[in-house]
Amino acid sequence: MQAAESKPIATRGFATHDKNAKFAPFEFERRAVGPHDILIDIEYAGICHSDIHQARAEWEPMVPSTYPMVPGHEIVGRVSQVGSEVTKFSEGDIAGIGCFIDSCRECTPCEIGVEQYCVKGSAQTYNSTEMDRKTPTYGGYSKHYVIDEKYALKVQSRDDLSGVAPLLCAGITTYSPLRRWNVGPGKKVAVAGLGGLGHMGVKLAAAMGAEVTVLSTSPSKEKDATALGAHHFLITKDPDAMKAAAGSFDFLLDTISAVHDYNAYLNLLGLNGVMVVVGVPTEAIPLNAFSLIGGNKVLAGSLIGGIPETQEMLDFCAEHNVVSDVEIITPDRIEEAYDRTVKSDVRYRFVIDMKNA
Ligand SMILES: [Zn+2]
Ligand SMILES: [Zn+2]
Repeated sequence: MQAAESKPIATRGFATHDKNAKFAPFEFERRAVGPHDILIDIEYAGICHSDIHQARAEWEPMVPSTYPMVPGHEIVGRVSQVGSEVTKFSEGDIAGIGCFIDSCRECTPCEIGVEQYCVKGSAQTYNSTEMDRKTPTYGGYSKHYVIDEKYALKVQSRDDLSGVAPLLCAGITTYSPLRRWNVGPGKKVAVAGLGGLGHMGVKLAAAMGAEVTVLSTSPSKEKDATALGAHHFLITKDPDAMKAAAGSFDFLLDTISAVHDYNAYLNLLGLNGVMVVVGVPTEAIPLNAFSLIGGNKVLAGSLIGGIPETQEMLDFCAEHNVVSDVEIITPDRIEEAYDRTVKSDVRYRFVIDMKNA
């Protein structure tokens, strides 16, 4: 091992020290670059709604929040050092990191490349620990990350990388169910909710060749929906429009995180229709069995995607020139970005410029 591989990497992040989520500079160390590791100089980190939930301890007790917390799992940057055994990356390559940075590597989900479902629990990018269950993980609101190359993604170089960062969570979260249920030409697809996830769902479904309708409560979003690639727009608060659209979709991607009536959305599906939930409402939602039985319908869920499929998604997005619509901020505006994200006042993802931080 070279000497350069044995020294921990001093770095700086932006951490919150309690659930009131005031961010401040935080000096810490990344582990030394091991034989299979790469060091990434982070350029952009997206702000995902789950960062806010964890920074503000809103998922406790299910997901405990540990402080200091450096959130961020939508990470893109440049490889500045590679370990002696690294084969996938060279210095200067662009790399991405998503929601997890390691897993047990032995269970069936790990073996088939859906590491997010690791039976032992994968190591999350932040607010978690390495697989030793001791070493805390700190996320992408920081200057550097050291990660095993197996859990890093290859990103094609482009002039502006800011719109790539959100693909690592919002992109794969929507891509995976669209692929699993064979969305493509000839399929009528509805995307419910036009936030960070929904806007990626629209772009990806349109790039896959489907006929896309946005379902929204706000008429003001119609122009944006069209600009993102949607072909139709349906106001879900309009009972006549909802009645007219009954039975008309093959697939419905539900990105809404507010409490809403699943039965009303299932009613929009045609024969053998599939509705996949990726939004996480804070309360349980009652389901009428008739909503599924009539029409042989499927209600399913989906959680991000494994490393192979995340790579496939990034390659698809590069080929079809799909990126997230972003608003770039400096780290001193994280709280403001959090407040605006909670109010859906962002088009469509905040991304922190870490390159100049
Ligand atoms: Zn996320
Ligand atoms: Zn596993």
